[in-house]
Amino acid sequence: MEIIKAEFYGPCFGVERALEITSEALQSRTKIYCLGELIHNNDVIEAYKQKGLMICDDIEDLKNTELILRSHGVGKNVYDYCEENQIDIIDATCPKVRNIHKIVSEHCKQGYHIIIFGNENHPEVIGIKDWCNENVSIFKDLTDFISRAPASLNKSCIVFQTTYHLNQYKQIKEYFNNLSINDIILHNTICNATEKRQMACLALARSCDTVLVIGGKQSSNTKKLFEISKEVCENTFWIENSKEIPFNLIKNSKRLGITAGASTPLWIVEEVIFNVRKESNA
Ligand code: SF4
Repeated sequence: MEIIKAEFYGPCFGVERALEITSEALQSRTKIYCLGELIHNNDVIEAYKQKGLMICDDIEDLKNTELILRSHGVGKNVYDYCEENQIDIIDATCPKVRNIHKIVSEHCKQGYHIIIFGNENHPEVIGIKDWCNENVSIFKDLTDFISRAPASLNKSCIVFQTTYHLNQYKQIKEYFNNLSINDIILHNTICNATEKRQMACLALARSCDTVLVIGGKQSSNTKKLFEISKEVCENTFWIENSKEIPFNLIKNSKRLGITAGASTPLWIVEEVIFNVRKESNA
């Protein structure tokens, strides 16, 4: 069996950075809170919990402690609450997300209406929205925008969730270019880490007879990789770690593709490969 890894897979820069910041912080402390799961991966969360990471779902449960902000980022309300309640922040917000916070808050101060394209229920979008002083609308795509566009588009600033689909972004950009309204500013805030992993997954699935997609079952970017692969390679399996390798279903594979979501640490990927090799050589 030949084992082929996708050209791009596994943790993106923002996730790696958040994990490093958390590991470093836990070296000198016995307890730190994180608002929501640090990343969507049960193995990693369990390992960090052993070292003292506590997951908290409601900021109002905390006072006078230390809090890690995960890569998705949070709204201004969280920073304000922490300042008022003696909570020291260890900020692992991805710089690309922080940049969006800066764009929207500066444009809000200048009187712009903010338009966000993304999933309104995603923590990243919830955080961005909170930097906009209520002067904000969220749309999932161009069809959604056209069906309920704001009455006036003058002085609008448009941003995108970092994981927004590139093809949809292109459509939206073309639509606004053709409107010929002067004071619309469109910022391409999409992160290419997601796009690169999706394109690499597609190429992998096209060249393999079987694919293992590795990542937490709560991870939406892993789900997307699974769907992309499954569409072109029927023998695609989504596993969380080496304990879930479906040996019976992959044993006849000649070319086994391996990819992993952005919240899957490389050691989990290597463990899967090690176990597949061991079993296929047995
Ligand atoms: S996908 Fe991009 S924006 Fe999101 S955490 Fe990773 S590097 Fe940052």
